[in-house]
Amino acid sequence: MQTNYKKILAILLLVGNFNKINAAYTQRDTALNIIQLPINYSKERTELSIEYLKNRHGIEQSTPIINPIMIVLHFTDGGTIHSIHDYFNAPTIEDSRQINKKVSALNVGSQFLIDRDGKIYQLMPDNYLARHAIGINYCAIGVENIGSEKEPLTEEQVIANAKLVRHLCKKYKIEYLIGHSEYIKFRNTPIWKESDPKYITYKTDPGEKFMEGVRILTMDLNLKSNP
Ligand SMILES: [Zn+2]
Repeated sequence: MQTNYKKILAILLLVGNFNKINAAYTQRDTALNIIQLPINYSKERTELSIEYLKNRHGIEQSTPIINPIMIVLHFTDGGTIHSIHDYFNAPTIEDSRQINKKVSALNVGSQFLIDRDGKIYQLMPDNYLARHAIGINYCAIGVENIGSEKEPLTEEQVIANAKLVRHLCKKYKIEYLIGHSEYIKFRNTPIWKESDPKYITYKTDPGEKFMEGVRILTMDLNLKSNP
């Protein structure tokens, strides 16, 4: 399937006035609708999250609350809103994910999940820890998108992600916007907090063109992509 965000890029480049585009875009932001679809952030998940903060990030506290300065965009590599919700709902990670399971039993998850039509679902409070990106979970909000390499993310998802980023930037002091494939850049910087220097996984999601589209639509926010 041919995605349409090339079209957005082409229009923006033709018009050549990003400030005007962004001003128009900002006004459209009023229509942001977030559908609540909470996973069970149970006592067990809470305890595992507090333990994750301590053991992985070296942060000792009595709650799983984070102070977000970063947004990380992902794709799910298949599935549907309901199958991904069900998958994230379990407090513990499945046995087949050996590399991850070895360092913590906490299941993976994300604060937000966006469908192919651009509908935004919130799975947990946006400042609760979710396990979605090694080294930076303690300061990063994760946004998953239904899609994969074979099923590239849609124009609706580009727009929805940009709207959500704009919304979160009003709420928190967000400095960075990255795709999961870019997170390794933060290794060997003070932002990276992971007790095992060898614990790393290589990612390709959510795709370069997708990131380019979201970045153009949020250009006025001056979010950084590098440490
Ligand atoms: Zn990812």
